[in-house]
Amino acid sequence: MLRRIRSRLRPLFSRLEAFGFACIRRILYCRARDVTASLSAKRVLVVAPHQDDETLGAGVAVMRLVEQGAEVHITVVTDGRNSHTSAKITKDQLAELRRQEMIDACGLLGVPPERVHFGPCEDRYVGDHRDKAYTHLRSLAEKVKPDLVISPSPLDRHYDHVAVGETIRRLAAEGVINAPVYEYPVWFYSVRTWTNPDRLSPKNIFHLFWKPARAAFTLPVVVVRTSGYLDRKRKALEAHRSQMFNLTGEPTWLTLPEDWLTNFFRAYEMFFPLPEAQRRAAAPRTEAAHA
Ligand SMILES: [Zn+2]
Repeated sequence: MLRRIRSRLRPLFSRLEAFGFACIRRILYCRARDVTASLSAKRVLVVAPHQDDETLGAGVAVMRLVEQGAEVHITVVTDGRNSHTSAKITKDQLAELRRQEMIDACGLLGVPPERVHFGPCEDRYVGDHRDKAYTHLRSLAEKVKPDLVISPSPLDRHYDHVAVGETIRRLAAEGVINAPVYEYPVWFYSVRTWTNPDRLSPKNIFHLFWKPARAAFTLPVVVVRTSGYLDRKRKALEAHRSQMFNLTGEPTWLTLPEDWLTNFFRAYEMFFPLPEAQRRAAAPRTEAAHA
């Protein structure tokens, strides 16, 4: 009975969720500084927890920076072997496929294979192996010497995004990264980032409204205009075929939902610059979920 009521209410919840995130986005856009015209750097390091995050979060910014002559390096920290469970493809084959997809997608963004770097972690488990992620990102930051870093927002309640985002914050706090850090949201547009939707207690419902509202009104935010670049961004995203299409025909092979993807094809890409005071502070550990 309860399940039937829940399934009947699901479309209503989806519409409410979309409306809520649209309101938050509108508030952030109103407060944001448009850095499209001033976006420039000589060397850029873009950090992705998973293959596809670089395109979702910063695809247009990357294309614009490449066009301006920046040397853009992109690293994905995990190998993607755990994104799907399949009887038709092994984890090793999936990791190899996702490696090639990453090279193809970055190529479409204008970044050649020699500037695409692969990290040492398995997806879902970066938090358990922060030392490996730290060593990889530190060595890359020392090699690239970026004057702009684009990395995942630790606000996203996703185990790998939190671990990678906090590692970049640690490197900034230690002075290894001595450049502006722009953090991009991905799972920001998910109810799970703000509360536990499986337990709709009064406290959780309060968090569902209060936390995103507080973020919308207090986060420092900059935006990059996407006009003229969204078709290429879509093509780059579709190069991540294992995430966009059901490659094996198995019902368990999930793909990124189109209604959620619309969050990344708006008028602007959005970034939260890491404030100076936060750069100097040690990155806090944040409770996060495997996903
Ligand atoms: Zn991700």
